[in-house]
Amino acid sequence: MKSYRKVLAFNTKTRRAFINITPQIQECLRESGIKEGLLLCNPMHITASVFINDDEPGLHRDFEALLEKLAPEKPYDQYYHNGYEDNADAHLKRTIMGREVVVAITEGKLDLGTWEQIFYGEFDGKRDKRVLVKIIGE
Ligand code: ZN
Repeated sequence: MKSYRKVLAFNTKTRRAFINITPQIQECLRESGIKEGLLLCNPMHITASVFINDDEPGLHRDFEALLEKLAPEKPYDQYYHNGYEDNADAHLKRTIMGREVVVAITEGKLDLGTWEQIFYGEFDGKRDKRVLVKIIGE
């Protein structure tokens, strides 16, 4: 069995962002040489998500609206967590959007559905963040 590990780096200009990382994940898969197996991808942070959904700008605005409704960024003092920090909303948003994705690798390709794309969801940006890609198989 082969094993591959890579860490991708992000530093968004805005506090929140959705980035389609499917091309970078495909590049990792190509680099790994693995043809059959499983790929795991997760942020190495508790204020960011990796999730799978449609690459459609309207939907991304809908996500932003939903997350701001459920866990609004402001006022900061509405959260117990915000004693020393201002990112309670980011922790909550990450929990709603999920931590990681697992994708099957078949015949050297990501075995995704027609409209499935892999996204990095940043909820407390403007700082260095890392995303782990782990692939196992043969
Ligand atoms: Zn925090």
